[in-house]
Formats: sequence, structure tokens, C-alpha cells
Amino acid sequence: MWARLLVGIFLCAAVSSPAPPRAVPAWKANPDVRRVLIVSIDGLRPDLLLRADAPNVRALMKRGSYTMWARTIADAYTLPAHLSMLTGVTSEKHGITWNDYTEDSYPQTPTIFDLAKKKGLSTAIAVAKMKFIVLKRPGMIDFPFIADEDKQGDADVVREAVKIIREHKPAVMFVHLANVDVVGHAEGWGSAKQIEAIHLADAQLGEVLEAMRGAGAGEGGAGAGAGGKLEEHTLILLSSDHGGSGRGHGPDDAPSADVPWIAAGPRVRENFDLTLMRGRPISVMDTFATAAAALGIEVAYPIDGRPVEAIYTSDESLHALPAW
Ligand SMILES: [Zn+2]
Repeated sequence: MWARLLVGIFLCAAVSSPAPPRAVPAWKANPDVRRVLIVSIDGLRPDLLLRADAPNVRALMKRGSYTMWARTIADAYTLPAHLSMLTGVTSEKHGITWNDYTEDSYPQTPTIFDLAKKKGLSTAIAVAKMKFIVLKRPGMIDFPFIADEDKQGDADVVREAVKIIREHKPAVMFVHLANVDVVGHAEGWGSAKQIEAIHLADAQLGEVLEAMRGAGAGEGGAGAGAGGKLEEHTLILLSSDHGGSGRGHGPDDAPSADVPWIAAGPRVRENFDLTLMRGRPISVMDTFATAAAALGIEVAYPIDGRPVEAIYTSDESLHALPAW
């Protein structure tokens, strides 16, 4: 009995303890990926996503790998959590611990855009809140659209995102939709209005994905190769910054902690639930690490996120990878 108890304690520890920070050596996890599109639907609690009529997310899950149990950081607020998603480290390390508009302050550690630019890749953001100005380190975002939330909304973000995709085909793009969170603060997490808002966000996600589908990869996209559609070379990562309960979200609140994490793209396992990998919890910080690995970007300093290599179908070329 004692032995069984000890094994139980060991398993619990193995499942819940986070991995120590590690660098990500330069390796290209997937030779077919030339672009990464990261979409965040702000405040998207996983169970509400499953309750909502969200055909585009469902289609993405069907052709991808996913979990409804990804974890956000302890600081379950919009700006710190998104910065962890886009830098791969905790808020203590990236230093963006505030959640309001602040000019001329940038994260202490590189974002995926900073690293991509250094590698000569093009970068873009289309975001629904002005506080995301912290992502726009001078010279690092080629095609930025930062909505003024007093006058603009998700429809403007989507319109601009579609335009950027069609005209510039950026190698790394981040799209942020805010309305699900806005409705959560006004009406409550789990309210009928918020479920409707998720349906709308899903339709907007559909517009962005349709732009990817429609844009040819061969015409002017640097490094895109000959022909094909942009979508065929793009790793899509859909997630969120936090959930919520009542009319808010924050630390020490279980319904705020879990977010969906969905990956789809070339060679990505279809309809694969990542919770099948016991002992490999997924964090919002893994988004950064997975994007870097997909693009062959080296991360030479220790980070808290890890590439989710289990999203890829097994292939000879994918076996000679660093062990994670
Ligand atoms: Zn948020």
C-alpha cells in the first residue's frame, strides 16, 4: 500500500511540476512550415468554446492537434499572459507585469517577432487593444495594426489582418481578438451573450483562415517556394490568454487558468488530443517555443516554454531532434 502511495505521489509530481527552463537549439521541427500564424481569442475559456457554435475552430481541431487543458501563467491577465505566449517565459522574466497602455516599454526578453526579424523573416501583428504597443519594439514589426479600442473592434482587426496576409504574406503573424473578453467583463464568463460572442469570434477566425487559404504562396512571398497556397506552408496556433469566472479573471482562480491550445498545419497530426500524452502539460509559453522550432529559430537562452513536438506526425526527418 505504501509503495502504491509513493508511486502515486511520484506520478502527481511528474504531472504537475513544470520543466526547468531550457534553451531551444536551432532545429527545424517541420521542413514544410514556412510561416506561423498565432491567433488568440482573448478570455476564451475552453468549456465555453465547446458550448459555442464554432465550426471554424472545430474544423481546425479536426485537422490538427489540441488540448482544452493548456495552462496560462500565474498572472492570468491579458498583457502579461500574451507576452508569455509570445516570449516563452514567465511574466517575472519578460517584465511586462502591467495590463494597461504604456509607451516606450518593451519586454526584457525577445518576442517571437524580435527573433524572426533577426533571422530575416517578415513579421506582422493585428491586435485589438492599444496596450499591445509593447510588442512593437522599434524595427521589429514589419506590418503592425494596433486597433484603438475606443473607436475600433475585432471587425477592424480582421479586415486589417486579411489585408496584411493577402498583400505581404508575413512569416510570423499574431492576430488578437478582444470581444469575447469584453463581453465576459460586461455580462459574465459563461453568459449567453459570451457564448454568442464566441460564435462571432469563430466566424472572424474563419475570415482570417479563408485569407490564408486564398492567398497563393508562389506570388511574391519570399521563401515561399513555387506555387501552392499559403495555408499549405503555415503552422496555425490558436489559443487564449486566460479564461474567467463571474465578470473577471486573474490569479488563483481555477476557471481563469485553463485555455484551449490548437495547432494545425502541414504534417500536424489530425484530430489528436494532446492530453493523450500524460505528464506533458501544455502552457501558453509553449506557443513561442513551438513557433520558434517550426521556423528553425534558435533560442539561445533558457525559456520556460517547450516546443510541442507531439503535434507532428512521425516522420524520419523528425526523429533526429533534441530530446525534450
Ligand atoms: Zn485577456
